[in-house]
Amino acid sequence: MRKNVVLGAGITGISAGHHLRLNSEDVVLYEKNDDWGGLCGNFTIGGFRFDKFVHFSFAQDEYVVNTFRNSVDMYEHVPFPSNYYKGVWLRHPAQNNLAPLSSNEKTDIIYDFVNREVKDVSEIKDYAEWLRCQYGNYFAENFPFRYTRKYWGVEPEELETKWVGNRMYTPDLRQVLNGAFETQDECFYYAKVMKYPKKGGFRAILNTSREGLDIRLNKSVVKIDTKAKIVSFADGTMAEYDNLISTLPLPEIVKMLDDVPDEVLRAAQDLKYTSGYMVSLGFNKPDIAKYLWFYIYDEDILASRVYSPNLKSADNVPKGCSSLQAEIFFANGSAIPDKELVLKNTVDKLVEMQVCKPEDIVVKDIRFEKYANVIFDKDIYKNREIVLEYVKSLGINSIGRFGKWEYMWTHQAYADGMSVVKGALANAK
Ligand SMILES: Cc1cc2nc3c(=O)[nH]c(=O)nc-3n(C[C@H](O)[C@H](O)[C@H](O)COP(=O)(O)OP(=O)(O)OC[C@H]3O[C@@H](n4cnc5c(N)ncnc54)[C@H](O)[C@@H]3O)c2cc1C
Repeated sequence: MRKNVVLGAGITGISAGHHLRLNSEDVVLYEKNDDWGGLCGNFTIGGFRFDKFVHFSFAQDEYVVNTFRNSVDMYEHVPFPSNYYKGVWLRHPAQNNLAPLSSNEKTDIIYDFVNREVKDVSEIKDYAEWLRCQYGNYFAENFPFRYTRKYWGVEPEELETKWVGNRMYTPDLRQVLNGAFETQDECFYYAKVMKYPKKGGFRAILNTSREGLDIRLNKSVVKIDTKAKIVSFADGTMAEYDNLISTLPLPEIVKMLDDVPDEVLRAAQDLKYTSGYMVSLGFNKPDIAKYLWFYIYDEDILASRVYSPNLKSADNVPKGCSSLQAEIFFANGSAIPDKELVLKNTVDKLVEMQVCKPEDIVVKDIRFEKYANVIFDKDIYKNREIVLEYVKSLGINSIGRFGKWEYMWTHQAYADGMSVVKGALANAK
């Protein structure tokens, strides 16, 4: 029987493994961590469960929706996030809900919005210009420019614009004016419903897909010999394969191969990404979290986004408790502050913002994830193609968020794991 090996047990790897098994193929997954799930995974401290960063499902494809639904019952949350800006809370999206701001600031925002330069998308050179054209200078500079620095760790001029899609809402003048007088009740978020498992944390969407899968944990891949078709692990063991599917990040996989051309090594090195800290807090009171999630624009506050695991599902906390998790991102190559400093800044600022009180905190944790988001700088497409073409030429099926180097949501990652199997089976015929 053909030996299928899948590297990484995140959602993409699990989907690939599951669909191979559905086709009666033999498959083993190898995962470097001591648990499965990758970015969809979670950890529990003192009865408080935290996902790795905020996660909801907004899958539309019927097959994927049904697969997740058959795994676990889901809550359907209507997304009403909030925004924190210079001591004021604004409903999301901020430009539609300017009411709490001072008259001067509202005037500056609306004046620049009305007088903004409108350009055809094809003439826009970067994300900074895109933001100025969508929102006007004042709002662009004070809201999304600041958020870009915090969430993407780069200046907006460094980003291209194809990744934006429908992720950001562009209001019309009437909506801006309405929202400047009174906070609006309409949900403008790009997903109208965000689903979350009632039990088991986000990764429970994979309950049925991972059933019966042979997942070997604590197996960190260190070398891939594509001629001999052997994968080697940090613990000294090896695995042979006939068909190799990898969800490992492209910059990592090139380090595991022999004789990689300089051009490919350089392209892989130039792929930019963010790494992220998660600051997870558990409280001994039920009502600390007021919003499912909120964005923070102030740059003296390191956290860019904070969400509430217990508002996603009460199953994430012990009875009578609540929780928050803050996300703090840095671009690779930038100076990443020490975790103690990040933890202190996050807790101190949440207290200053009157989100929580120090005496209510019963769980305090910080952890780091090297690969969080792919950065869409201007060279991404060129560099990504060079690396992907090379990896493909060695017979490695590289898939998933970091294996394809793509802005993938979980439903897209799941679909990617499914389609690689279709391709592999077609090739085997
Ligand atoms: C901040 C943030 C918020 C997000 N929010 C959402 C959301 O709300 N909704 C949504 O749909 N999506 C969301 N996503 C995207 C979602 O997390 C990803 O699309 C998805 O989890 C990617 O899965 P993957 O399997 O491709 O990658 P991963 O989850 O990264 O899996 C790769 C696996 O490979 C393993 N691995 C790496 N190196 C090695 C090695 N050397 N040896 C063995 N194993 C290795 C890793 O440990 C990991 O388990 C979010 C992502 C981030 C960062």
